[in-house]
Amino acid sequence: MSPKLVLFDVDGILLKLDTIKFDHWHAVVKKNFGLDVSRHDIYTSGKTDRQILFELIRNKGMKIKASDKRITEVVKDIGPTVAGAIKNQKLEKIKNVEKLIKELKKRRIAIGLLTGNTPGKAKVKLQSASLWKYFKIGAFGDSTIVRNELIPIAMKDAKEKTGITFRKKDVFLIGDTIRDIWCAKKGKVKIISVASGKETVEQLRKEKPNYLFKDFSNENIDKMIRILEK
Ligand SMILES: [Mg+2]
Repeated sequence: MSPKLVLFDVDGILLKLDTIKFDHWHAVVKKNFGLDVSRHDIYTSGKTDRQILFELIRNKGMKIKASDKRITEVVKDIGPTVAGAIKNQKLEKIKNVEKLIKELKKRRIAIGLLTGNTPGKAKVKLQSASLWKYFKIGAFGDSTIVRNELIPIAMKDAKEKTGITFRKKDVFLIGDTIRDIWCAKKGKVKIISVASGKETVEQLRKEKPNYLFKDFSNENIDKMIRILEK
């Protein structure tokens, strides 16, 4: 078996959706750009935090360049802002997903994160659900507004941390949104879609993922392991 790399999306795959409120966006955008934004201004699912920031600002009619220094400030502020907001709170995991993680670890299959969250935000959220400890490899949403670009970033990070050059056909993304399917297809890796987030099995099926599951039931986890051990 050639070495496999499994990349986990965070929201809707590891953690339940809407575990944190939109308020952190309001706080960091207000602080750095002086604008009042609300959750009604945007559909956030499947987007990177960098993309969300650009859209929030542009939707308010303000022009913003990729080189704008305030973006770096926002990225820096998001982690601590979220940490403050979820202090003393335990974020809810997606049911049974931790079992899959443990099964992969047991089999020495490499795992990583591929998320639209900034590194700071992903860390505080996953720490609060006791899942951060499993992940050393990752690609995060502060680096690009295009989710697809997170695939090569994750593969590069995996190579640096494991010394293994994974072949694209041995890389699997596990995601809950249509955007994850597009991301995997553009990146020429495999996609395992799980309807554990907002989008339904029917919606996901239309985009033709390589594999599609309703949830992380024991039976589905067995099937996923078989796919990964092929
Ligand atoms: Mg997601």
